[in-house]
Amino acid sequence: MPVQDPSERIRNFSEVALGYDEETAREEARRCIRCKAKPCVSGCPVGVDIPAFLALVAEGKYEEAYAVIRRANALPAATGRVCPQETQCEAKCTRGIRGEPVAIGRIERFVADRHRHNAEKKEPPAGKRVAVIGSGPAGLACAGELAARGFRVTVFEALHLFGGVLVYGIPAFRLPKEVVRREVEALREAGVEFVCDAVIGRSLSVEELFGEGYEAVFLGTGAGLPRFMGIRGENAVGVFSANEFLTRINLMKAYEEGSATPVYPARETIVVGGGNVAMDAARCARRLGARVTVVYRRSEEELPARREEYLHAREEGIAFRFLTNPVEVLTEEGKVCGLRCTETELGEPDASGRRRPVEKAGSAFTLAADCVIMALGTSPNPLLKEAGFQTGKHGEILTDEEGRTSLRGVYAGGDAVTGSATVILAMGAGRRAAMAIAEDLG
Ligand code: FAD
Ligand code: SF4
Repeated sequence: MPVQDPSERIRNFSEVALGYDEETAREEARRCIRCKAKPCVSGCPVGVDIPAFLALVAEGKYEEAYAVIRRANALPAATGRVCPQETQCEAKCTRGIRGEPVAIGRIERFVADRHRHNAEKKEPPAGKRVAVIGSGPAGLACAGELAARGFRVTVFEALHLFGGVLVYGIPAFRLPKEVVRREVEALREAGVEFVCDAVIGRSLSVEELFGEGYEAVFLGTGAGLPRFMGIRGENAVGVFSANEFLTRINLMKAYEEGSATPVYPARETIVVGGGNVAMDAARCARRLGARVTVVYRRSEEELPARREEYLHAREEGIAFRFLTNPVEVLTEEGKVCGLRCTETELGEPDASGRRRPVEKAGSAFTLAADCVIMALGTSPNPLLKEAGFQTGKHGEILTDEEGRTSLRGVYAGGDAVTGSATVILAMGAGRRAAMAIAEDLG
């Protein structure tokens, strides 16, 4: 896949990976050997019929390929770019046993980018009314499935733009906002209604939605509550959650000159964490001109970020300190001036199956920093808890397999239920809940 040169791209927020041309996409699709057992399909959380769409791409039938993907996946332009393919569909590809797997995600992106939605706007369906709270992948997938089944759907979103993490978290250099806008437009054209700046639980309660005539409510409110380490100095000026930092940049465009909500100027930024969120925060900080170090308490092998994002981050000059754990944010007049860390080594596996990092005695050292960004994961937003549904010990909404909560008529899915996960898992949950709603409302 051609990419923007690293020395260029650290100065802009334009997309890094430039996408396949037609010839490359067809050639890559022809590498599929059409295994009978279709192992790649079992690797895709929503079961896209991968060999079928690859065969159509190989023949140059792109619209037909698009239709095959869309049967299972409502946001292919996004998933083609951000799915962790190396642990999902591509991990199971037979071609990968001896060599490179077929680049399924890149071909999916090619097909989705070529497709132009039919701009003919449909009237909202006349069926029963359903309210979807949150316009992230879970909410959008749920709304799309319900509209296709004839329900009249309204999506309520707290922010002024629709797309959830796809617009406020994942930076434009990985997922251009125009791609997300087009997907939302396609749903609007299919008859879904959208209301922005509506914080359910504040401006309107779940109960009031039922009072207004909605017969079911889907909660796709994500996991936007950042976690911190609880170490000394964490309240200093210059410490941010990755959520705040990324929202300022992606949603409020803090990187633009003259921005009304500029971001904190920093020369030496440390990002704590090793997931996609940490990579995105580090790469944004780099583009804002800082020297950046990512500090991760496990080793390179355990790094949970998509491989491509990690490699791109390295190419962009971001430094990594593995097996390193922060113990104190050092401050001067209330502002960050460094990060005290200790070295770790990996011990026995913990509950997640990953080896637990154990602090090495007498290994403390200090890294210089004027900004520290915590990318340690997030928990579900507690705002809607007062609606009265049951939640787990981390605030996650408890549901059955199909997304039914403990409250009649209220369904949930995505990060609000699982905690921080992936785009495609959230979409799968949204679609499953839509099917349950359709079944329950008859
Ligand atoms: P969200 O996308 O969080 O959407 C929830 C929406 O609900 C938000 O728009 C929020 O404003 C709205 N909302 C919340 N409360 C209310 C309320 N009370 N009223 C109205 N609206 C409300 N996954 C991948 O697969 N690949 C990646 O590369 C990847 N990178 C990521 C990078 C970052 C920076 C982050 C933060 C996450 C990343 N993820 C990635 C994870 C993925 O984005 C999430 O798992 C997915 O977006 C969850 O979808 P969701 O619909 O459940 O929630
Ligand atoms: Fe692979 Fe994700 Fe597409 Fe499924 S949705 S085929 S996992 S890229």
